[in-house]
Parts: sequence; structure tokens; C-alpha cells
Amino acid sequence: MATIAFIGLGNMGGPMAANLVKAGHTVKGFDLSADILKSVAASGVTPASSIEEATSGADTVVTMLPKGAHVLSVWSNLASAVKSGTLLIDCSTIDVGSARKAHELAAGANCLSLDAPVSGGTGGAAAGTLTFMAGGSDGAFDRARPVLEAMGKKIVHCGGNGAGQAAKICNNMILGISMIGVCEAFALGEKLGLSHQALFDVASTSSGQCWSINTYCPVPGPVPTSPANNDYKPGFAAALMLKDLKLAQEAALAAGAATPLGAEAAQLFDLFDKQGHGGRDFSAIIEMLRG
Ligand code: NAD
Repeated sequence: MATIAFIGLGNMGGPMAANLVKAGHTVKGFDLSADILKSVAASGVTPASSIEEATSGADTVVTMLPKGAHVLSVWSNLASAVKSGTLLIDCSTIDVGSARKAHELAAGANCLSLDAPVSGGTGGAAAGTLTFMAGGSDGAFDRARPVLEAMGKKIVHCGGNGAGQAAKICNNMILGISMIGVCEAFALGEKLGLSHQALFDVASTSSGQCWSINTYCPVPGPVPTSPANNDYKPGFAAALMLKDLKLAQEAALAAGAATPLGAEAAQLFDLFDKQGHGGRDFSAIIEMLRG
């Protein structure tokens, strides 16, 4: 069993750390928020008052932070706080460039490192059913596998440094585009007098089928568990979808890739966010698309 320092115990990190404890690992946690630190103690995570205290004696460090700047700042501190040979895993969703810089910081401190962003949301974090997309060396991946298995049900080694983040933003660009496509189809169907159920019954079993319709249908009724049946409470907040679409656009610009639909999806979610809907589930964008 590993001795783990977990940095960033928010909506995702808190339940992920709790699942590490459930699997038998020893976990010390640190977060800038004193309230969050108090609340995680109930799940068996030992609260630490600094990164140094959390990492003392740890063989593995997991970070789950908002953005690339936070990860680089914390990993700079880690590089001087941890012992040589420590495994550093970042599960945040961040830009590919920052992820690669974080790997360089780890290498400079003789540590193994993995970028390992997740999909599955807060529900998957609580249930321990996240999907991990990992980037880094075979050695880092092999050592991280038992730690990731305590928090997720599917773990994919996508390639070298930054490959996990690359897979995450490509996947979420598909999701953002496909959700807009499904919303447009339902909005058009409504204007043509088609019932939601009829369109669902056809498209979910025909060539239009995709996760955005089959599992996460953006209108109430056909898929009772989708956020549309719960007043579009997230789920996956529109602000987080916008964050991921912007990361995809940054990466596309840097790599010289043409992503016209990804760019359009980013603009539509930006407008939806500016209209004050960033906290709602991203499938609520159907309301804006109805016009
Ligand atoms: P969150 O804001 O709830 O948690 C982030 C935590 O990091 C906060 O508690 C904050 O206090 C802490 N933090 C920030 N800087 C810190 C520092 N220097 N030292 C210690 N703690 C620090 O965010 P979240 O929803 O848990 O998301 C975390 C990451 O996971 C993000 O990158 C997000 O894009 C990604 N993600 C989120 C979801 C989701 O559904 N919430 C799904 C997939 C991926």
C-alpha cells in the first residue's frame, strides 16, 4: 500500500482521496481552504497544514487543482519537498504545455511523473468509477496503476508526457460539438412538430446515436437520469465545458490544427457562460439554441 499526499481536495479531489483511504492507502491531504481540510478528515484523510507536511514520508503525490498555473506552482514546491524517486501524478485538466513543464520539474527532482486527467465528473469521483487518461513513461504508469485503480474503473496509457491531457481535450471537444449538434436537432424537431420521444427512438438507434443523445439526452423524458430531468443541475457544468473547449483551441493553435467546429462550440459555450449559465449543466445550452 502507498503513502500518498493529496493536494487539492475540492469537488473532485475530496472524494478521490476518500477512495484511496477506502482502498487501504495512507493519505495525508492539503488544500488552501481550511473548511475543506476539516471536512475531509471524516473520510480518513489526515489533514496537513502545508505541502511539506503532507508530503513528508510520502512515496506518491496526487494533485487535483483548477488550472495549469496552480499545478506548476504546486509542482515547483513539490520538487524541493519530496525525496528522489517519488511518483507525482497530476489529475487536473490543464493545458498540454503546462503538463509537459510539470513533467520537466519532476524529472529535475529525479521523480517519476504522470499527467492523468479524468472523465466521469463528481459522481464518478465519489463512486470510484473515473476514467483516467495517462501520459508519461511506462515506469511511471506501472507504478501509478494501483493508485489510479482505487479511484477509477478504466485506466488508459495514452502515450508520453502530456498525452493524457491531449486525449482529454480531444475527447471533450467531441463532446462539446456533439452536444450542440444533438441540441440543434431537438430544437429543429420541436419546430417541425416531432415529439422528443420519437426523435430519440430513431436517432438513439440510428446513425445519429452518440453519448450526448443516448446517455445524456438534453430534453426531459427519453433518458430519465439525464440532467434535463433535474432542471439542468450539473452534471458537468457549462463553465467546465467552456474551460476544456478553450484548452482544445489553445492546443489547436499551437499545433497548427484546423478545428472549425471546435472553435464554434467554444464561442457558443462562451456566449452561454456570459449569459450567466456557467453553473448549469452544459446540456442546458439547448435553451439558448432554441433562440
Ligand atoms: P475545485 O475548485 O472544487 O477544487 C480545486 C481545489 O484546489 C480547491 O479546493 C482549492 O482550494 C484547491 N487549491 C487551489 N490551489 C491550491 C494550492 N496551491 N494548494 C492546495 N490547494 C489548492 O475543482 P474540481 O471541480 O475539484 O476540479 C479540479 C480539476 O478537475 C479541474 O482541473 C477540473 O477541470 C477537473 N475536472 C473536474 C470535473 C468536475 O466535474 N468537477 C470533471 C473532470 C475534471
